[in-house]
This record gives sequence, C-alpha cells and structure tokens, in this order.
Amino acid sequence: MPSTTSLARRAAAAAALLLAAGRASAQQHVDILIAGGSVVDGTGSPARRADVGITGDHITFLGDASASHVTATRTIDAHGLVVAPGFIDSHTHSAGDLSNAKRKSNLDYLMQGVTTVITNNDGGGPVDIAKQLASWHSKGIGTNAAVFIGFGSVRQALLGMSANAPTAQQLDSMRTLVVRGMDAGAIGLSTGLFYAPQSYSTTDEVIALAKVAAAKGGLYDTHLRDESSYAVGLIAAVNEAIRIGREARMPVQISHIKALGADVWGQSDTVIALMKQAQASGVSVFGCQYPYTASGTSLGASLLPRWAETGGHDSLRVRAADPATRTKLLGEMTENLRRRGGASTLLITSTRDSSILGKRLDAIARERNTTPVEAALAIILRGDPGVASFNMTDADIDKFMVQPFIVTCSDGSDGHPRKYGTFPRILRQYVYEKHVLTLPQAVERSSATTAKDFGFKDRGVLAPGEFADVIAFDPATVADRSTYEQPTLLAAGMKYVLVNGVVVIADGNYTGALAGRVLRREVD
Ligand SMILES: [Zn+2]
Repeated sequence: MPSTTSLARRAAAAAALLLAAGRASAQQHVDILIAGGSVVDGTGSPARRADVGITGDHITFLGDASASHVTATRTIDAHGLVVAPGFIDSHTHSAGDLSNAKRKSNLDYLMQGVTTVITNNDGGGPVDIAKQLASWHSKGIGTNAAVFIGFGSVRQALLGMSANAPTAQQLDSMRTLVVRGMDAGAIGLSTGLFYAPQSYSTTDEVIALAKVAAAKGGLYDTHLRDESSYAVGLIAAVNEAIRIGREARMPVQISHIKALGADVWGQSDTVIALMKQAQASGVSVFGCQYPYTASGTSLGASLLPRWAETGGHDSLRVRAADPATRTKLLGEMTENLRRRGGASTLLITSTRDSSILGKRLDAIARERNTTPVEAALAIILRGDPGVASFNMTDADIDKFMVQPFIVTCSDGSDGHPRKYGTFPRILRQYVYEKHVLTLPQAVERSSATTAKDFGFKDRGVLAPGEFADVIAFDPATVADRSTYEQPTLLAAGMKYVLVNGVVVIADGNYTGALAGRVLRREVD
C-alpha cells in the first residue's frame, strides 16, 4: 500500500504537472534548464536530444525547450554531454563518511555521478538507526542515503562474538531491535553471513529476523555465507538466500555477486540459472556487482577460519599461542590462501603499518623470511589490515553484468579503487571499450532498475514528476582514475550533478552544497 506521504507527494507532483502543462501552451518557466544534451533517461530507451527543465526539487520539463517556449533562470549548456538520472549505489560502506564532518559531502560518489547511496550493508552499521538518520538530517549529507538495519550489529548487541545460538529471549530482543530499526526508517535487513559472528547463525535464525523486517515492508540484502568454497559453497549459499526470501516473503539482493576463487570459477552460469528459477517461482531475487577482478576485505576475513574468531581478538591471540591450535590454524589458513589464489593475490591496501602498505603477501613473507600464513597471522594479531584480493575472472564478471536483474554497486571500502571508480569504470570499460553493455543498459542498471528494486519512488528516471537527481557527463572523458596503488583518485568526466534539484557539481567542481536526503523504501 502506498504511504500517505507518497500519495500526498504524488498528488502535489500531479498538480505541478498540470500547472506546467497549462503554462507550456503559454510559456513555462523553470529554475534550471539543462540544454542540448544527449538524454539517456534510465528506462533503457536509446539516447535522444532533449532539454531537461527543473523547478524546485522536481523535473518539470523534458523535450525541446525552444519549441515549447520554455524559459529558465539558469541554463546549463549540455551540448556534447550525456544527461542521465543520478546513479544509485545499492551497496556501500559510506555511513562513516556521511557521519564525518569532513567527508559528509560524499564527494567520491558525487564525482562518479552517484546521487543516492545505500549503506549499513553486510549486516553492519549502528543498531540505533534513528540516531544515525537524525544526525544526517540535521548536519546535512551530499548524496541521498538509505540504510539497512544490520543483522550482525543486532546479533552482536545480544551475543557479542559468541558462536552460541540465541535463547528464545535473546531472539525476541533481536526482533525488537530490528522492528525499532525498521520503524526508524531502515529499508530492510542486511546480513554478512560470511563474517564472524554472523557466520555462527543458522538459516532459521536469519529467517526469524527477516520476517520481522518483511512485515515492515523491508527487503533482504546479503553478503552470502560463502562466495567461494570456504564453508557451504557458493551454490548452497545462493540457495540459502533464496530460501530466506521465500520463507520471509521479501525481495532479496545478493550483494557484490561473484565467483570467488578457482574452485568456483565458471559457476556464474549456475548462479544465474538459480536466480531465474527463483524469479519464475515468485521470489524477487536480484543482485548487484562491481566491475573489478579483486574483492576488498580484511586479511583476517580472507584467511582465518571462522572458529578461530569465536570470542574475538583476545581469544584468537590465545589460540595462536597454543602450539597444537596454532598448527591447525596455520593449516586451514594455508588452504584458504590456496582458495584465494595464493600469496601474490593478496595486496595490503589499508593499514597504519607503513612497512606493509601497498605490498603483496608473498613479498612480505620473503622480506620476513617466513611462510605467507605465518606472516599473515603475525600481521592480523597486530591489527587486521584491509586487502585487495584478486580472485575473480573477467568471464564471470561479464556474465553477471549482462543480466538485467544485476545492477551496479561499488561496495566501496577504503583502500580499494571501487570506492572512487565503480560507476565511471562501467561506462569507460564496459560500455565504450569492451561493449559488454550498451549505454542505455548501463544507465538503467545504475539508476531505474535499482530505484524500482529498492522502492525509491519517483527516482531513477528522467521524466517530468520525478525528483531532480540528474547528472551530465562527457562521454569522451568519463572514466575511473582510482587504482590499487592510488585508490582515492576522484573519477573524471562528471561535469554536472544535481541532487534534489540543487547543483552540487558544476563544470566538474564541487559547489559545497549538501542537498542529500534520507530516503525510505515505499512499496505499493
Ligand atoms: Zn560484503
């Protein structure tokens, strides 16, 4: 059922349209006219030459402005530029940035053309959603944002790093926290079942909490229990996500979908088939993806067996000091390292230890005259660093990308170039160079499809009546510039970005505006 705010807003938008239509015959005046660009409207339709008019926070005109006698207070010359709906990123780790006085503009995303981010993914984020959103609301944010209530945070609030199952009473308390998060504005429940302590949960435990989020209209977002061959395996993990969606009766996003490691390379075909089968049987399951062959995580998450993390860091230290346990631990770490592709595939990307930053694990082990897993364990015990883990094939990436139900997401984390480069990289490499997607397809999967999946009403498409999240980029220069060596280089080519009708990037420069809003999920 549409919410009352949605109905009221639609009525207001309809009234504005009628007014606009009435004026168009005489003369329509808009605040901003983006004139002469090649419009790719997000629906998948081919590019067409059109002018976009904006009044307040809405798009109020789309067409030939001079033929329709449209006048404007400000005209932005978009000749030679592609004009598109602002991109929506369905999996980020930008909550910290949005809460940070110096980073709340979310500039790394604005420069990619991203006007909306979803965060608290992977089961993370605060348990107190009301506080998080109130702070963004009062202090201002550069992009729109929507949040999940994180299963991991909820579980940890009751059980810490324990591998125990919750008691009935604890499960009830967890339910209460999910309800509170949903009531405060969360769009659904996120999980990161690969990570401790979430890995200790059973499917039934997750379903119990997912049902609570579903009853509040939420969706389910998951970093799968296994994207590789660590535990249950990729295929079983996909089936688990689908089962959760079916039993909790809610849509499912499989986040940063991939086939991680040689053991599962080529399984993209099976994953896609399973998703299509589930869709045909009535489960709304979709995915999101970033266009890099390296994932980004921590060294510990990559190599430690989950049993070693039970009880937290101090317990790990005790285990590592016990000779028998240490031998078992190193043995399993060796197997996990093989799974990932070996020590040369792990690059340390974020750490306070400058002696290892930017180096690969094989080089560090050589320097220290020890084995890669011994070196890794020593490093993890001093403070777990971020790594780029090169573990995907281009063939699997391309197969996922061409599916219409797989949208773009950055999974942006510090140290990995995807945080600054994902969306322009799709355009530069996958549209203009490799022709894996057409431009209308790439735009649709970065805007309209995502808005529809997540229930962001009146966003994701360029059309009168929609919110004015609009971007204009130069097709000749739009590109990612961030690399594994320099992950924080801002993307190139994004000339204009408007968030809710406010110009936040003008001629490639940030204007200082904080025009983002907190978005909720609205489903009919
Ligand atoms: Zn994740």
